[in-house]
Amino acid sequence: MSPTNGESGRLTTGREHRDLASLVGKRVSIRLREEIGGYRDLLGILVNANQVERKDGSIATFDPGSVFAFREVLPRNRSEAKGSEVGGTRIKIYDTLSRQVREIKSSDAQKVRIYCCGPTVYRDAHLGNLRTFLLSDLIRRAIEFSGFDVLMIQNITDVGHMSEDFDEDKVLKESQERKRDPFEIARDYESRFHRDLALLGIKPADHYPRASECIEMMQLHISQLIDKGLAYQGEDGTVYFSSKGFESYGALSGNRLTDLKPGHRYEFTEAGAKRFHADWALWKSAGTRSEMIWDSPWGKGFPGWHIECSAMSLHYLNGHIDLHIGGIDLRFPHHENERAQSNPVAKHLYPSDEAVDLWLHGEHLLFEGRKMSKSAGNVVLLSDVIARGLDPLAVRFCFLENRYRSQMDLSWASITAADRLLRRWRKRFAHHAASPSVKPSRKGQIIIEEIASDIANDLDTPRALQRLRTLEKDEQLADSIKSEVFATIDRVLGLDLMRIEVEPARELGEAESLLLEARIQARAAKDYAKSDQLRDLLADRGIEVRDEVNGQVWEWKEGAN
Ligand SMILES: [Zn+2]
Repeated sequence: MSPTNGESGRLTTGREHRDLASLVGKRVSIRLREEIGGYRDLLGILVNANQVERKDGSIATFDPGSVFAFREVLPRNRSEAKGSEVGGTRIKIYDTLSRQVREIKSSDAQKVRIYCCGPTVYRDAHLGNLRTFLLSDLIRRAIEFSGFDVLMIQNITDVGHMSEDFDEDKVLKESQERKRDPFEIARDYESRFHRDLALLGIKPADHYPRASECIEMMQLHISQLIDKGLAYQGEDGTVYFSSKGFESYGALSGNRLTDLKPGHRYEFTEAGAKRFHADWALWKSAGTRSEMIWDSPWGKGFPGWHIECSAMSLHYLNGHIDLHIGGIDLRFPHHENERAQSNPVAKHLYPSDEAVDLWLHGEHLLFEGRKMSKSAGNVVLLSDVIARGLDPLAVRFCFLENRYRSQMDLSWASITAADRLLRRWRKRFAHHAASPSVKPSRKGQIIIEEIASDIANDLDTPRALQRLRTLEKDEQLADSIKSEVFATIDRVLGLDLMRIEVEPARELGEAESLLLEARIQARAAKDYAKSDQLRDLLADRGIEVRDEVNGQVWEWKEGAN
């Protein structure tokens, strides 16, 4: 976060120019900063450090000092090679702020910078929470599939997130009820969160900053807001954000300040110390609280929840967030407040009024028709899925069968059906793809392109899965081509489709043992009518019998488990 010149400076360093020169002869995309303001993009073969040969053969000359960003365009997929703009990933999603479907772009043309709001670690994440984390993994995989790298940050909230009645910190409340150290509880649930992510095939983020370890960063951000006249310390010692100072408050959620009634409760109760009812706490004065508090220029206290995400996202993503992900319930007030806190500070770090380029929100999850909640008694954890002998990736499959921005109803029946389907696909295709002789086929590549473009189209995973189901049934197509498609597209879906399933050994029951024994006797007595009858009875029980030179052998029939 150290600009090298006043305007933006981030990528116009000498080192970057040398890097660009190393791409001579390669196909490149270059974004140039115009003297009059704004940007211009160039696409073509880099001839030397200041010339590009365009597709039509013309030569464009540019000033190396005006290069803002650049990247090599790999001929990895056809559409990208056709791409006209620097940093475009081809993947489009619905942006909550502009209320439009927009392309995800990399602001530095190298990596897409993603921030995903993480868990508050005072209990296990339920399947509803995990749906959001899977959404961020799906996007990340889709972006990587399109040829870009991703830099992903997800925070761990171990302090500052207040309980629903606004009286106590969620982690502290849990610690008081269970008489355990709050940080012990937080670390415990944090490691369980990572275990759940691994079980769901979610690739780890680059960094998981903990709120309690980023206090200084948040205090710095708060001081900057105070300096800009956007925050003030109330008589109660708490520092508040001055919501009236941020003109476009409400643009994200539609909750304009004029519509917010006094008495609307935000994060904390306060005794008339705020200047305006919609202001919220950035740094909460400790009061009588003695645990999880820190020194600050405004006295002992602890940070608010919203400031955590502003400070961390800007710090770890170098002043600009290409894509911000969270559940729909975070849109207000969490993300609305985050935007108000981030924009005024980020303006000086990156040439954009918005700290976040795209805001992505995943919809709610229902379970068997009802919202998953403790009070409804229908909270389902990943451990409950495993306890039923179901593959956690079956849950992932169910989420993919629904568009991320539609509310979906999950049920045990749908998870069970997905579990069966995954086993069937793996049995059918995993062996093929494991063979080293498989070469990419033209037909396979065309189908892969089609499925990838479904996913690029606002993550239409239901359509992508429908294509795979149709492909499975297509009798005209060789299994080797089908395997090629399943193996390749699984890099985006993350369903571990190339896993060789090992059937769990099934115990032989007493009745089955007796039938097998009776059949051996019947054959010894040359009573073939009876032995055939017994073979049928065994078949009904899922046992396949064969007669070989050394006698009768048997095995469980495929799918009998
Ligand atoms: Zn957040």
